[in-house]
Amino acid sequence: MRITVQKFGGTSVANLDCMCKVLDKNREILSTGCKLVVVLSAMAGETNRLLTLAGQWSDRPDPWELDALVATGEQVSVTLYAMLLKDQGIRARSVLGHQAEILTDCSAGRARILGINSSRMLELLNSHDVLVVAGFQGCDIRQRITTLGRGGSDTSAVALAAALNAELCEIYTDVDGVYTTDPHVCPQARKISRITYDEMLEMASMGAKVLQIRSVQFAKKYQVPVHVRSTFSNEPGTIVTKEEKGMEEALVSSIAYDKDQARVTLMDVYDEPGVAATIFSPISDADIVVDMIVQNPSREARTDMTFTVPRGDLEPTLKILNRIKTEIGAPAVVHDAQVSKVSIIGVGMRNHSGVAAMAFTALKHEGINILMISTSEIKISILLDEKYTELAVRTLHEAFGLDKPEPTPKSDQS
Ligand code: ASP
Ligand code: MG
Repeated sequence: MRITVQKFGGTSVANLDCMCKVLDKNREILSTGCKLVVVLSAMAGETNRLLTLAGQWSDRPDPWELDALVATGEQVSVTLYAMLLKDQGIRARSVLGHQAEILTDCSAGRARILGINSSRMLELLNSHDVLVVAGFQGCDIRQRITTLGRGGSDTSAVALAAALNAELCEIYTDVDGVYTTDPHVCPQARKISRITYDEMLEMASMGAKVLQIRSVQFAKKYQVPVHVRSTFSNEPGTIVTKEEKGMEEALVSSIAYDKDQARVTLMDVYDEPGVAATIFSPISDADIVVDMIVQNPSREARTDMTFTVPRGDLEPTLKILNRIKTEIGAPAVVHDAQVSKVSIIGVGMRNHSGVAAMAFTALKHEGINILMISTSEIKISILLDEKYTELAVRTLHEAFGLDKPEPTPKSDQS
């Protein structure tokens, strides 16, 4: 049985007119003789409305009741949409998370999918051409309704595509794909036709505006190619896929930025075994994610330790450091909340030296000072004064030729 999964976000099912566009997208697939699993989000604004409602009823809503409540958003969109399909004479039905037997772990509000009963779904597909599945929701072992975190319908779609061995997983949204950088910051940004899972994961918060990060991790794990595209156009979007031949021809694929950063420096800590553990263990116990870490060379058995945390975690981080600073001999803790991180991403840089030097030179020409640097195989991140973020993004975007048309990968025949 050939199966395609198509997922539509909240703006794509916001009203009847939008749903009719969804219908067109479905028909294209159905006309190829493929069965269809349509995963829907709640109608635009609905999940927020339900969350606000819960907040009016309770200061600390019970997490299980909250999940059961917000899951109703998707129940509305799938049932309405299934009605529309049936009126068109299409053999369709709605399927809620527990009916699809999407089993999750027991973490309310951010549950992870453990498994899907694919034989149940396949059985339903025998007698239907379209199954309209509620995204974002599942059910735990104790029969409680769970939700997968904001934007979780993307993950529902990818998980269903993996479980059903679908030939295609299309994620329809209101943007037409993944861009080389934020078009609001850099109007020259262009759509990327193919990007690897790893690059998409490295784009972090920027990529997350297009796809829930967890769905990308899922797609990578099960090697599901995902096509992100717009409901409101017929243009192809961006394919997120495993690394293929030719993809490394572009040195850099995108420039991401993150303003949610703060920098902390512990001055003159003892340079001896155990100090880093003393600093970072309590921070990690507090669930604070440390990103860049730099330890300076030591002078007279003392060193400076600098690191970054999400800006919202600065206060709790400083509290922890003030508690332990005498133990590690640090006379002072300094911090700066006005910093941001700009990242250069590309699988192509794996086989090239000089990417960092190119980036630093471009920034030098704009007089932008670099505060910290961290690198991985496919990413170079630079911490800088927040006020230079946009300039740095535009400078690097141009320096790596991302404003030029996308290179076409050489075909195997050539
Ligand atoms: N309706 C949920 C949300 O707004 C899930 C989704 O849209 O993917 O986060
Ligand atoms: Mg979304």
